[in-house]
Amino acid sequence: MVKIEHIGIAVKELAISVPLFEKLLNSPCYKTETVESEKVNTAFFQQGQTKIELLESSTPDGVIARFIEKKGEGIHHIAFDVEDIYAEMERLKNEGFVLLNEKPKDGADNKLVCFLHPKGTNGVLVELCMEKKK
Ligand code: ZN
Repeated sequence: MVKIEHIGIAVKELAISVPLFEKLLNSPCYKTETVESEKVNTAFFQQGQTKIELLESSTPDGVIARFIEKKGEGIHHIAFDVEDIYAEMERLKNEGFVLLNEKPKDGADNKLVCFLHPKGTNGVLVELCMEKKK
């Protein structure tokens, strides 16, 4: 894994949390994007080499809505940048980690992503992500 690419934070309302994080980080949100397949609206902040990704559910029954219901707002996942997501998925599968998707899928911010089951990672939802080649 190359570095922490971003940290995903579940929030109830982007309209409230975007201005809050702009103040906190003293930098503007540079992108918002809806990921239909995940039922989330996302907002991104750049902090040096790393990003903060705010996640708001786009539907009442989405995964982020259910997460907030159970645990409240807060850190949802940690995403690692990988050079070859296919090789990394294979490696982790062979190490016994449970992948939540068998094939990389489209994520926000022009990425291919794969999630690992938090049961096998001390309760931390881990995302692998790789920049899509143009
Ligand atoms: Zn993410």
